[in-house]
Amino acid sequence: MKAPTSTRRKALSIIVGEATLAFSPACLAKSKRRLPKLSFLVASDTHLGHKDSTTAEKRWIQTAAELKSATGDLVIHLGDIVDGGREEQYTVYLREREKIGKPVYEIPGNHDPLDLFRKHIRKRVDVSVDYEWLKFVLVSNAHTDSHDGFLTDVQLQWIESQCVAATEQQRYVMLCLHVPVHSNRHPDRGWYVKPEHGQTKLYEIINRHKQQIVAMMHGHFHNGIRGWKDDGGIHEICMPSVLYNLDRGLEKQKATGYNPLEFRPGYTMVTIDKGWMTLDYKPLGADVSVNKKCEL
Ligand SMILES: [Zn+2]
Repeated sequence: MKAPTSTRRKALSIIVGEATLAFSPACLAKSKRRLPKLSFLVASDTHLGHKDSTTAEKRWIQTAAELKSATGDLVIHLGDIVDGGREEQYTVYLREREKIGKPVYEIPGNHDPLDLFRKHIRKRVDVSVDYEWLKFVLVSNAHTDSHDGFLTDVQLQWIESQCVAATEQQRYVMLCLHVPVHSNRHPDRGWYVKPEHGQTKLYEIINRHKQQIVAMMHGHFHNGIRGWKDDGGIHEICMPSVLYNLDRGLEKQKATGYNPLEFRPGYTMVTIDKGWMTLDYKPLGADVSVNKKCEL
């Protein structure tokens, strides 16, 4: 591949992200293929049974109906399926999930006790899902008695093994964990995987495999699209809740990272194409309102 000339450089700037991916040595060693465009949908924090009202159920009914016709081949649910471990609500969840007509893959949140998640959603909790050239690595990092995230050494080893497998399969990795890993404090929530609970080790793994990792996605924050990309790091993005989102005034307070001003209940349409990951915030019953481009 020839280096772009200065006159071409401007025109190519829009695909510079793809260049970053395609030009990284690990990728070059494996393949020069062009990655086909890929679209999927992300729902999170349905909290069925929230406050013992039917609001959450109504939101989920509407969300499922929209996900059915939305552009995207599969759906990732980033946790807190039910609120406060209300077991009967998993039936409500599954009833609507059936109607989506697309594969749906969940991770548990701190409101989903693991025994109930195993009983109603999936026997094996930590799994990876291969979709075209992408490997979703779905990891349970929430505890029901804490807002922080936790990763065991066994999980960390497993995550690394999935990165290795992805490399062998010429796939990229999308890490999905309910609780964000990125450090954050007031005015942010202050909920994350603390260094001693796996943050340090996970960042070491990410650093070893970052040629392979597209981004990390989370739920838990109910804060619209809230993300960070530090120097040399990968995108770490909390996705909106389909039940409710709160404006914590982060942009106004110049918090690090980004938090577009959209806080209606909604889901996210994700498209990865030409080295860019595009997040479309889709408020329920309204048009896409935020279009956030993340260079990879
Ligand atoms: Zn949560």
